[in-house]
Amino acid sequence: MKITVIGYFGTYPKAGAATSGYLLEEGKTKVLIDCGSGVISSLQKYVDIKELTAVILTHYHADHTADIPILQYSAMMLTKLNEREHSLPIFALRDKENFKKLDYSPYCYGMEINPYENLIIGDINFSFIETKHSKRCIAIKAASNNKSIIYTGDTEYFDELAEFSKGSSVIISESSLYEDIEVPGHMKASEAGLLASNSKAQKLVLSHLPPYGNHEDLYEAASKVFENEIILAYSGLSILL
Ligand SMILES: [Zn+2]
Ligand SMILES: [Zn+2]
Repeated sequence: MKITVIGYFGTYPKAGAATSGYLLEEGKTKVLIDCGSGVISSLQKYVDIKELTAVILTHYHADHTADIPILQYSAMMLTKLNEREHSLPIFALRDKENFKKLDYSPYCYGMEINPYENLIIGDINFSFIETKHSKRCIAIKAASNNKSIIYTGDTEYFDELAEFSKGSSVIISESSLYEDIEVPGHMKASEAGLLASNSKAQKLVLSHLPPYGNHEDLYEAASKVFENEIILAYSGLSILL
């Protein structure tokens, strides 16, 4: 299994960058997780959109979904050009206003995620836990060949998330906040470190980074809590499990 960071900013992307987006690949299975601002442009450096198997959204904040209409247009165009054969499923939580917009028939369609049930897409087995955030959101565990990776989505720290993450070697954690800032529903870098430490991960990727300040400060704060490898996310960062 391989995961590639496409976009790693929270809120809005800095010049030429993107907000949340990650490409997960196992064999011919290619799943885009989150589809924030700038993701569709950056994604094409790493995969042809015609090869995408599915999309999973953690929640409906714009820094995770802004490029969904653009993805839908790309699926339409590629289908008309006979380059995409299958309608593209977009898996997400069901809500009153956003879920129905995932349908762009016959090019894309929404598929409901039940966070209490596993989801199998091609060669990858996904499981979920609801996080603590201002909008309903899920963290994702992706497993294949006895290896797994965690992506936290947006959340504050809670012990059940560490429990859910145990046994996964890599955690891609949101790390939205510098140490002197408190925002409910998000984590400071030290809390991302605590999550990685409590779940006994081998590697922590700090992502969903703020578009201000010095990201090295996030690295420093996390490294006081977590002793294994820490990586500040960047577009194109690829981890093979
Ligand atoms: Zn976010
Ligand atoms: Zn959010």
